[in-house]
Amino acid sequence: MAKTVDLPAFKKLAARKKKIYTSFLRGVHNRKNRNQIDKMALELHTEAFAKIDCLDCGNCCKTMTPTYLPSDIKRIAKHMGMTPKAYTEKYTYVDDIGDVMNRSVPCHFLLPDNKCSIYEIRPVDCRGFPHTNKKSRPFVHSASVNKEFFWRCPAVFHIVDNIYNRVIEGGNKLK
Ligand code: SF4
Ligand code: SF4
Repeated sequence: MAKTVDLPAFKKLAARKKKIYTSFLRGVHNRKNRNQIDKMALELHTEAFAKIDCLDCGNCCKTMTPTYLPSDIKRIAKHMGMTPKAYTEKYTYVDDIGDVMNRSVPCHFLLPDNKCSIYEIRPVDCRGFPHTNKKSRPFVHSASVNKEFFWRCPAVFHIVDNIYNRVIEGGNKLK
């Protein structure tokens, strides 16, 4: 069966669109139709994941790090037979805003077939990624995060690409 994601082709397309979509996302919160855009994003999220099989991609695990909750560390450390302190010291660092992140990218739990070796107990952040279906975290208010995600995640790209095409290329029907 054909792959649902051609990662090298996606990377080329995303690089071509990076500047224009970054600029669009920077200003999206000022648009009059931002509520419509949020609604559209939820529908496009469903559409994207109906088409995309993440096992053909794995690019989030290859290029980004999850943000750990203390409960994630506790659960994963226990699974590995380590103390939370030992796990934290060996595998993580604290970034400049205090978030606990993986030291290494790709993630040390990513397998060659793009599966996660701790899938059942993976961090909460991984379970929800790319967070584009959360009503509590609407698309427009997450634009600064999606600005970093759309060129790495084909699903977020699908959402941004379609919104951009409808809002801008569609003759500004949705101002
Ligand atoms: S824990 Fe699993 S799902 Fe999360 S980044 Fe690592 S490999 Fe990916
Ligand atoms: S969430 Fe996005 S980046 Fe991660 S595997 Fe799925 S499509 Fe790829």
